[in-house]
Amino acid sequence: MNQSDCIFCKIIKGDIPSSKVYEDNDVYAFLDISQVTKGHTLVIPKQHTKNIYETPADVAEKLFQRIPKLSNAIKKAYNPIGLNILNNNGEAAGQSVFHLHIHLIPRYGEGDGFG
Ligand code: 5GP
Ligand code: ZN
Repeated sequence: MNQSDCIFCKIIKGDIPSSKVYEDNDVYAFLDISQVTKGHTLVIPKQHTKNIYETPADVAEKLFQRIPKLSNAIKKAYNPIGLNILNNNGEAAGQSVFHLHIHLIPRYGEGDGFG
């Protein structure tokens, strides 16, 4: 399911270019356009869903199921010393794109630019 005015749906379709990290039938992962640290990745369900409140359990299950594998891929590729996993729901929580997404933010120690 795709929503025509959603930038992440457009990224999944290939209408907006992205640096793809991973893709399967249910999930798409790509580099965040604004890298808070090197390797900052977004993981999204292919099925459009606004936020965690509106996400069917099976969509959430497939999304979260991929997180350990993708986290290990990032660890291997960038060799960080830590990793933050973030999900913002609602403007007050910092959500700016209303297609559910998980941030994977590799951490490199003090002064890495995040937090
Ligand atoms: P939020 O603030 O909603 O949790 O995170 C949205 C994220 O999407 C932001 O970190 C922002 O940099 C990223 N973003 C917004 N538009 C684009 C885009 O067109 N391409 C990519 N790769 N990332 C985007
Ligand atoms: Zn969408």
